[in-house]
Amino acid sequence: MADLRLPTAPEIDGTAHLHSGKVRDLYELTGGPHEGRLLMVASDRISIFDFVLDTTIPDKGELLTRMSLWWSDQLSDVVPNHVVSTDVPDAVRGRAVVCERLDMYPVECVARGYLTGSGLLDYLASGEVCGIPLPAGLEDGSRLPEPIFTPATKADLGDHDENVSYDAVVSSLGAERAAELRALTLEIYGRADAIARERGIILADTKLEFGARGDGTTVLADEVLTPDSSRFWPAAQWQPGRAQPSYDKQIVRNWALSTESGWDRASGEAPPPLPPEVVERTRARYVEAYERLTGQTF
Ligand code: ATP
Ligand code: MG
Repeated sequence: MADLRLPTAPEIDGTAHLHSGKVRDLYELTGGPHEGRLLMVASDRISIFDFVLDTTIPDKGELLTRMSLWWSDQLSDVVPNHVVSTDVPDAVRGRAVVCERLDMYPVECVARGYLTGSGLLDYLASGEVCGIPLPAGLEDGSRLPEPIFTPATKADLGDHDENVSYDAVVSSLGAERAAELRALTLEIYGRADAIARERGIILADTKLEFGARGDGTTVLADEVLTPDSSRFWPAAQWQPGRAQPSYDKQIVRNWALSTESGWDRASGEAPPPLPPEVVERTRARYVEAYERLTGQTF
């Protein structure tokens, strides 16, 4: 069972705190030109195995915010996004966005072009992922015959998201919305994978969230194509049949599981604080992902 401590969100003038997840803090703006809109703040927190660690990764919030903005721009002809402004309070400058407040669809829209993680576990147990039958003989990291839409329902803090069938999405949102979300998710995945691939990176999978405006328009929300929501793999090192090297928290996970950390995953306790060297290598990995994908220097 994961650690259920809620991170404490700092107070920000001119806002009211609404919600804190493992990594992000959500506020409502209570005055000024954007009154009533949301302020989405990405912290430097990092979570592994559903534990929020005591150690933070410097610049992670800013790197992921910038990456998310960059991708939202790349996709602006595919789908409107919730970003209104990056003019945010000084305390969170660079790692927050003002966004439209949407009525979020209660489904995590996941696209997978490769098999790993919970998809792999489901496949090994049933030969299917979210009710989609897959060919026999696939292994960790295998490329799928074509990208698939594998929706999940959001779990409460400390629980895993649960993969659900497409029919479950139809039951909850109706056939039309379900079809729209599936089509958008797969189109975004295809676009993003093509862009990443030109830069030597495979987008193995990604989790998107959408919401509706008052007039019913579907808008891309939340974080977009960050290493926290997506698996990015260096294409040159891709080799199915093993865990792939990845532009995310892998360094931290590997350290936590190594004897060096002294952490026993079965204990139910949070992992110990990270050594500075692990922090620095993890930060460098996020910088590398940002720079390779966007072509910009951090
Ligand atoms: P976790 O790892 O637990 O998912 P997190 O740090 O990603 O944590 P969330 O709990 O996902 O944080 O917090 C972000 C919340 O904001 C989500 O519930 C998401 O659905 C919601 N959200 C994102 N964009 C919008 C929007 N434009 N309008 C309303 N809600 C939004
Ligand atoms: Mg989230």
